[in-house]
Amino acid sequence: MRSAAERRELLKAVYEEARGCVRCPLHQTRTNVVFGSGNANADLMFIGEAPGANEDLQGLPFVGQAGKLLDKLLGEIGMQRSDVFIANTLKCRPPDNRDPQPNEIAACEDYLFRQVALIEPTVICTLGNFSTKLLRGDSTGISRLHGQAEERIIGTRAVRLYPLYHPAAALYTPSMLETLRGDFQRIPELLAQGPPRQPPEVVEVPEIETVPDLPDPGPPADAQEPEHALQLGLF
Ligand code: URA
Repeated sequence: MRSAAERRELLKAVYEEARGCVRCPLHQTRTNVVFGSGNANADLMFIGEAPGANEDLQGLPFVGQAGKLLDKLLGEIGMQRSDVFIANTLKCRPPDNRDPQPNEIAACEDYLFRQVALIEPTVICTLGNFSTKLLRGDSTGISRLHGQAEERIIGTRAVRLYPLYHPAAALYTPSMLETLRGDFQRIPELLAQGPPRQPPEVVEVPEIETVPDLPDPGPPADAQEPEHALQLGLF
């Protein structure tokens, strides 16, 4: 188990890498890479779509109107930003706030998956279609999925994935805002369930070259086969 300080340092190293990223054309038009912010040791992570104009200027996620709504909804469940980690599917702003393109998502997803692997959240709330589709690896849309928690393997860990409407969409549609608010109310209950049962760790077994010509001395009289030997496929 990593300490909070270790997680922070490791996240900072990923940030340093992302800061100079030129993996997709968005680096030509960005002001800042918006890596994400919050508590590196958080149990709850939010993943939005992409930085907008304010986020691009400040280098921080969700600092505009949608961010204010996110803060309000967090407050209603007794939480604040410093309790959670917030990131986006894309770390750079698409010009004119257009939708993220598949090549941009493909170029950027490695940063997000490394963030998830380092933070090890219990619950991930995907906000809107883009992060939901990326993390679920399928094209089902948010209106069918919002408010339904499911256990998913992200990288090597199981998390409780909880898709939500994007707060920017809810800003302009009162009925969607009420749905988002209702879905938010279930977050504490999901956190209280703790992390889902984890998949068994994969043990990397180094390949052992066989040495054909060694004479076989045979087992010593008191030899016992180690109990784990066959499970690991070493012999
Ligand atoms: N919308 C997002 O998806 N992310 C932000 O950071 C801001 C608005």
